[in-house]
Amino acid sequence: MDSERREHILRAVVEVIEKLRRQLEAGLDRQVIDFDLLPTDLDAIATSLGLKVKIENELDGSTALASETLGAVYRKRKEIQIAGGKKHTRQRFTLAHELGHYLLHDQLVSYREVLAPSEAVDATNRPAIEQEADFFAVELLMPARSVGRVFQQYFGGPINGTVASDDVAHFLSQGHRPFSASEIVRMGKHERARLFARIATYAGVQFKPICEVFDVSMEAMAIRLENLGLVK
Ligand SMILES: [Zn+2]
Repeated sequence: MDSERREHILRAVVEVIEKLRRQLEAGLDRQVIDFDLLPTDLDAIATSLGLKVKIENELDGSTALASETLGAVYRKRKEIQIAGGKKHTRQRFTLAHELGHYLLHDQLVSYREVLAPSEAVDATNRPAIEQEADFFAVELLMPARSVGRVFQQYFGGPINGTVASDDVAHFLSQGHRPFSASEIVRMGKHERARLFARIATYAGVQFKPICEVFDVSMEAMAIRLENLGLVK
């Protein structure tokens, strides 16, 4: 994906989020802040685009591929289908991914997802349109600015776990199991990101885990925290 295409997709994400913000503001007598928009309301976005979202156990009446199919876009009848029976966060990611196809890929008229949309942004061996839809989904579900703000609020700033820190170990240990500074270094970046994605207490303060604030899987949030450089 070249930088021009990335910019195009980021603009598409900003557009739908700004539309949501305006809709929300119309019903409130105050200014809407980023936090009000979390987790991203995908159903409201679909509705504002005139799209129906159906959770189906048999996509389009066919059972043959149902177990491997996660979602589908039917442009002419303005419908997105999402396979039922999957984890809530998986279905949510798929819906965000299909919204990406709908907004970015006019050429997909009637399109069924046979490959699993990846929650990982670095699955570089996937076709270009799949990578674009994944990129759209990640940006829509976990906007960089909002993730940065919540992370800052919870943890005071990016965590560099490659250097032993008694403070971080102490803060993690309050209300949690005890951690030693060297244990945090040893667990490696991805495990650290998984920890910060799911913990509900830091420095003695309780909060909603960041993965739940954004209503995404712990794994998807961990990858996002790594890619945004918030957990090193
Ligand atoms: Zn796709």
